[in-house]
Amino acid sequence: MIPSVLPTYNRAPLAFVKGEGSWLTSEDGTRYLDVGAGIAVNALGHAHPALVEALTAQAQNLWHVSNLYEIPNQQALADLLVDQTFADSVFFTNSGTESCELAVKMARKYWHDKGQPERTDIVTFSGSFHGRSSAGIAAAGSEKMTKGFGPLLPGFIHLPWGDHDAFYNAIGETVAAILIEPVQGEGGIVPLPDQCLKGLRDLCDETGILLILDEVQCGMGRTGRLFAHEWAGITPDIMMVAKGIGAGFPLGAVLATEDAASGMTPGTHGSTFGGNPLGCAVGLAATKIISEPAFLDEVNRKAGLLRQKLEGLVAAHPDVFDRVRGSGLMLGLVCKVPNTDVVKAGYARHLLTVPAADNTVRLLPPLTITDTEIAEAVTRLDQAASDLAQDAAV
Ligand SMILES: *Cc1c(COP(=O)(O)O)cnc(C)c1O
Repeated sequence: MIPSVLPTYNRAPLAFVKGEGSWLTSEDGTRYLDVGAGIAVNALGHAHPALVEALTAQAQNLWHVSNLYEIPNQQALADLLVDQTFADSVFFTNSGTESCELAVKMARKYWHDKGQPERTDIVTFSGSFHGRSSAGIAAAGSEKMTKGFGPLLPGFIHLPWGDHDAFYNAIGETVAAILIEPVQGEGGIVPLPDQCLKGLRDLCDETGILLILDEVQCGMGRTGRLFAHEWAGITPDIMMVAKGIGAGFPLGAVLATEDAASGMTPGTHGSTFGGNPLGCAVGLAATKIISEPAFLDEVNRKAGLLRQKLEGLVAAHPDVFDRVRGSGLMLGLVCKVPNTDVVKAGYARHLLTVPAADNTVRLLPPLTITDTEIAEAVTRLDQAASDLAQDAAV
C-alpha cells in the first residue's frame, strides 16, 4: 500500500521536535549535532533569535496580500540585494526550482526581444542540479532525474563538466545562456575553478551570451563571500538564489542586471506567494546578518578550521575517506566506503550529514557553528569512521 506521504524520499527514521543553533532534539530527547542544516538552508542555525523575532512580529501584523500591492519588506530586501550584488533588479520566488524557471524564461525573452528569437538554447553541465520542475530536470538532464518524465522541455545543451573542447564546440548561434553552479552541491561539492568562471565570463562578454549562475546552494555566505562567484572577481547576468536566503523559511530569488531583465515587463511573470511578507521579513533579517563583512570573515575563519580538521580525519581514516573538497563551509568528504554508510554511522553518533552524488558526504553546517561544535562534529565523524572500520573487521 502506498504510504500517505508520497514515497519519493528515503527518510531516516528520525523525527525532530526542537532546534537551537547547531542542535536538533529528537522525539526521545536525544540531541543531534546538525552539520547538514536542512541541506544548506538553516544558514543561521535553528531558531536564531533575530529570525524568530522578524517572523513572529510580521505574523502578528500581516501574512499575505499578493503582489497586486506593494510589499515594504520585499522592497527592502530587493534594495539590500541590489546594494550588495551585481544585480539591478530582483524577483522573489519560493524555491530554487522556481528560480530556475524564471532564469530560463528571462534568458529566452531577452533574445526574443533583441530580435534573435532563434537563441533559445541553454548550455548546462553534467553533475549539475537545478531543481525538480520540468525546466529544472531538463536543464540537469541526467537519466536519474529525467527518465519517465518525457517529453522533456527542449532547448538544453548538456556538456561534460570540465571538457573545454566540447564546450567551445557547442557555443553557436542558437545559444542564449550558460547555466552553471559555481560549486556543484548535489553533484558532490565540486567547485568550478576561478579561472574557468573567468573564462566563461570572457566568452559571454565576447558573444553576448548570458551567464546564469545557480547559487541556490553555494550562495548566501556559504563559501565565505555573500555569493560564491565573488571569489573569481566576476559577475553573472542572472543569478538563482534560494535555500539560505530564507534561513529556513521558504524563499528564493532571481537577481539580474537591468539589461538581462529588460524583457520582463508587467504581465510576463508572476507568483502568488513569491515575495510574501513573512518570507521577506525573515529573508531581510537573515540577509542583513549574513552580508556583514565581519560575519563573513568569521565564516572564512571557521571554514579554515573545519577544513584543517577534516584533512586530519581523512589522514586518520584512509580506508574510509578519499579526500576533502569544497569551499568555505560547503565541504564534501569523498568516501571509499558507501557514503550512505558514513551518513548512517553519523546518525548512530548523533551527527547529521547529507549524502551527495560521486559517493560524497556533505558538510553544510549553520554558518553560525562555533569552534567547539566544529571540533565536536569532527570527533563524531572520527568515531563514526572507527565504527565502520570495526564493522568491516567483524
Ligand atoms: C536545492 C537546489 C535547487 C532546487 O531548489 P528547491 O528549493 O529544492 O527547488 C536548485 N539548484 C541548486 C544548486 C540546488 O542546490
